[in-house]
Amino acid sequence: MQPDLTEKILELIRRTATNLPADVEERLRASVEKEAPGSAARGALETVLKNIELARAESTPICQDTGTPIFYVHYPEGWITRKLKEQIRAALAEATQCSYMRPNAVDAVYDKNSGNNLGGEDFPSVHFDEVEGETLTIELMLKGGGCENVGAQYSLPDNRLGAGRDLAGVRKVVLDAVQRAQGQGCAPGILGVAIGGDRGSSYYGSKEVLFDKLGTRNADPKLAALEERLTSEANTLGIGPMGFGGSTTVIDTKIKGMHRLPASFFVSVSYMCWAYRRRKMTVNGETVAYD
Ligand code: SF4
Repeated sequence: MQPDLTEKILELIRRTATNLPADVEERLRASVEKEAPGSAARGALETVLKNIELARAESTPICQDTGTPIFYVHYPEGWITRKLKEQIRAALAEATQCSYMRPNAVDAVYDKNSGNNLGGEDFPSVHFDEVEGETLTIELMLKGGGCENVGAQYSLPDNRLGAGRDLAGVRKVVLDAVQRAQGQGCAPGILGVAIGGDRGSSYYGSKEVLFDKLGTRNADPKLAALEERLTSEANTLGIGPMGFGGSTTVIDTKIKGMHRLPASFFVSVSYMCWAYRRRKMTVNGETVAYD
């Protein structure tokens, strides 16, 4: 019989909301050294790091905006996804009661907050994918509203930016998105970029790629080179941590190449703020592990 994972998922939510992944924290720590002593940029990063430590020690949210919960569930044959979804929703409501999550689900038509992070079938966002083997994996990302607001989608060619339907055009529009975001996405950020797809799948692709660890490069050498180039060029724009200027605007870039219709060429940019909250749990028989 399928186990009830509600309490295990609650722990996944707690860890995601209160304890930033080690790879993100390491990047932020390394960034401090790149900013001038006494600068506003360095001060902002030091404050962010103190905040991260405090949240972990006290098991409180890393940021007051606990974001949109986005779950990806990779399940082996035989699991009932309807039950998993019910358990995810129950865990999220409990996490809200425990104050690991701020009530964030607002009915856009009636302007009413549900108070428990549940809204219709669309909040939280839950995606299922059947996989081979015996391991169930649940990934969770909490995507802040401020950084979501500065995400962007471009339809190439973009004559305003002189961006054609090639990787040179992709580079131009991604840097445009960073320039437009300024400090409003709570830089330093991480860029999730999807090239291709339709408008919907392209945005999903740009978020899915953010589940990968920092520093992992696309297997396609052309895209891997573009990831490196975009990160380094974004850091010459002078936006810096929280828009205070400086050299740390973006700490990594992830790109997903997708297929497109001949008539369309979308580039979607999901901007993730420094509060890059993403974690996963794996279930193998009785054993549950968190990463
Ligand atoms: S964008 Fe991120 S860091 Fe900024 S307020 Fe939102 S969740 Fe917090």
